[in-house]
Amino acid sequence: MPALVEDIRACRICADNPDKLPLPHDPRPVLQVSETARLCICGQAPGTRVHKSGRPFTDPSGDRLRDWMGIGEDIFYDPQKLAIIPMGFCFPGLDAKGGDLPPRPECRKAWHDDLFEALPQIELILVIGQYAQGYHLGKSRKKSLTETVAHWRDFWDECSSNNKPKVLPLPHPSWRNNAWIKKNPWFETDLLPVLKQEVARLV
Ligand code: SF4
Repeated sequence: MPALVEDIRACRICADNPDKLPLPHDPRPVLQVSETARLCICGQAPGTRVHKSGRPFTDPSGDRLRDWMGIGEDIFYDPQKLAIIPMGFCFPGLDAKGGDLPPRPECRKAWHDDLFEALPQIELILVIGQYAQGYHLGKSRKKSLTETVAHWRDFWDECSSNNKPKVLPLPHPSWRNNAWIKKNPWFETDLLPVLKQEVARLV
């Protein structure tokens, strides 16, 4: 595992051998892993702030995610307790409207299967956004993000019966989802208490 992580941190695929256009900047893979963390967050890809800081979720979305999980930065940034493995390790750049581009597909092809195989101790994966849901839920994913998150108990039960890590789909903790959270009150009343309980058990 340490050699694999070293290779990821030195990765230049999207600069030197990309599927299509190269990254518009030097690669800077951002991830947090260890052989002990039983809890993992799998999100999309770093944005501009994280690209600069080199630390995942160093933004208001990170504050809200920590609040959802009921933990502070001390636990959140402890790799022995929490792994953070986005679907793209490097900031993918911005689109014409100034939004973040999708995670680079090269990343998933090159690294994710090997990395998750090297982390058999993980018991719970928090899956944020459509790319992470596509990877971790596969065909079980529903047609929309709302439907997928609303069926969280089904995925929970399915994983328990298969002896696989539990997978909990979440919306992105961005302020852009404030209206979604308001519209789906079950998220705060039903899902978040279970999330907090599981996080407390695992860290
Ligand atoms: S996004 Fe992934 S595959 Fe591309 S350079 Fe960064 S680490 Fe390598």
